[in-house]
Amino acid sequence: MTQITDNLGHIRTRVAAAAHRSGRDPASIGLLAVSKKQPPERVLAAIEAGQRDFGENYLNEALAKMAGIGSMLRWHFIGPVQSNKTRGIAEHFDWVHGIDRLRVARRLSEQRPLNLPPINLCIQVNTAGESTKSGIAPEQLGDLAQAVSELPRTRLRGLMCIPPLATEFERQREPFRVLRLLKEDLSGLGIELDTLSMGMTADFEAAIAEGATWIRIGTAIFGPRD
Ligand SMILES: *Cc1c(COP(=O)(O)O)cnc(C)c1O
Repeated sequence: MTQITDNLGHIRTRVAAAAHRSGRDPASIGLLAVSKKQPPERVLAAIEAGQRDFGENYLNEALAKMAGIGSMLRWHFIGPVQSNKTRGIAEHFDWVHGIDRLRVARRLSEQRPLNLPPINLCIQVNTAGESTKSGIAPEQLGDLAQAVSELPRTRLRGLMCIPPLATEFERQREPFRVLRLLKEDLSGLGIELDTLSMGMTADFEAAIAEGATWIRIGTAIFGPRD
């Protein structure tokens, strides 16, 4: 599994270089290792290489993996959240990146165990208005953010997006810039957020150029998924 150690080292080098090109501190960019559809051995290899934040899309798969792996890690739920999965997510995850309905945020708030710290939330925005993708429309973001920010036992931290694939760097930046500006708009409404969850294997350097604070990387760390 030294391949995973090498991959992580390589990603961290690219993150640092991208940060420096934008005059940013590399420490302000968190690396979330997306371990969905990867076997637990690969997660263990990443932990040995110092990785602590992991992203999963499927509750049952994630719970099975967590059981064999233990503590000192932070788990991020990054897939679409179905209402019937909120209890398991509220009990076992530290972050949820894909909030796009008040109903789901409300359930997480109600179901978050009292002995755990507030669960961190990011609202997913459909920056390109794609009909096939989840995420709230930018016009509706203000109302949702206001409502979510008032829920107990949750902490609204920021915004998240999954833009359409683009190969050219300047093209890749556009949706990330939209997300950054939406975060600034919310600040104007008195909703202060500290997180932009954006950028995956194919486009994380463009996301860093626009201010990403979590990048979510799967393939470049673990290789192709099963
Ligand atoms: C799968 C997934 C990723 C990781 O994608 P890669 O292209 O493998 O880096 C990131 N974010 C979300 C929401 C995902 O579902």
